[in-house]
Amino acid sequence: MAELFYDADADLSIIQGRKVAVIGYGSQGHAHALSLRDSGVDVRVGLHEGSKSKAKAEEQGLRVVTPAEAAAEADLIMILIPDPIQAKVYEESIAPNLNDGDALFFAHGFNVRFGFIKPPAGVDVALVAPKGPGHLVRRQYEEGRGVPAIAAVEQDATGNAFALALSYAKAIGGTRAGVIKTTFTEETETDLFGEQAVLCGGASALVKAGFETLVEAGYQPEIAYFECLHELKLIVDLMYEGGLEKMRWSVSETAEWGDYITGPRVITADTKAEMKKVLAEIQDGTFAKNWMDEYHGGLKKYNEYKTQDEQHLLETTGKELRKLMSWVNDEEA
Ligand code: NDP
Ligand code: MG
Ligand code: MG
Repeated sequence: MAELFYDADADLSIIQGRKVAVIGYGSQGHAHALSLRDSGVDVRVGLHEGSKSKAKAEEQGLRVVTPAEAAAEADLIMILIPDPIQAKVYEESIAPNLNDGDALFFAHGFNVRFGFIKPPAGVDVALVAPKGPGHLVRRQYEEGRGVPAIAAVEQDATGNAFALALSYAKAIGGTRAGVIKTTFTEETETDLFGEQAVLCGGASALVKAGFETLVEAGYQPEIAYFECLHELKLIVDLMYEGGLEKMRWSVSETAEWGDYITGPRVITADTKAEMKKVLAEIQDGTFAKNWMDEYHGGLKKYNEYKTQDEQHLLETTGKELRKLMSWVNDEEA
């Protein structure tokens, strides 16, 4: 069973005794920086020249300096910029400002796990990753609650890296909900596998294949859209609230019977064998290498795939149908 840590297991004064640099002010960056500050932590934000989020950070009362200045001032640097650019920013602005005893923190293990960032031996290397988007992390914190987080230590130079990670997690509300101990390897590999095989890749491929099957059989695209995409949210909400059991309790017996007999015909032993190959390519670094080559090579294939799917009948149909559902993009709904 996973090891869980709560508020009582974490000492806030550890992080309150540090100078923290949050590099980036996007989804995670704004949530971490604001909640650290509200927890009494000395925090500055590091942003590049011409950064669009700089004005927002300053408006919200934070001091913004360059990533290099932030890293020089701080003794704990949390890197919260997009994963593909972290190695470059690290080389240019962070590595030259790291001293023995400093801590380098991440919210995703990608760059450390695959060796794109190789921190020096005298530095603590840890991960604190809330299991939710930044806006939820911040809102829960403000409401006195928290989003569960995972924490890991890759390199324990000081001997206190895990206590420091827990203290950091406490300052952003993580230990209010619970923090699970993991490793950089487990976090990175499961995260990549989940988003590729199940959450993003698996789910969109399943939706597209179902939609195409109905449309190719002569059914109206609008009807196919509702059946294969729109209603997925209702099903996933039920799973989120109470697992497969609650979903099956809520749907009809006919739907439940179809679930049992048809699910395994669609997601077959072959699918699972392919999932194992996907996982192996994540584990051996093939995926990471190919993705970084694609990213730094100008995202040619990435943009082709993107355009292809933007023009898919599923997407053009959905765009029109969503206009009939005023509540769908209404934040008050
Ligand atoms: P975002 O894409 O939201 O980060 C964008 C921020 O990075 C902006 O403030 C942007 O500035 C800034 N930025 C871009 N380039 C630079 C640069 N060269 N130097 C300094 N700042 C720069 O990132 P996320 O919050 O999504 O992800 C951050 C980390 O958190 C990643 O490691 C990710 O894997 C991890 N993570 C993300 C989660 C999420 O929900 N999004 C969940 C858990 C982990 P500007 O736009 O102003 O130019
Ligand atoms: Mg991910
Ligand atoms: Mg139905």
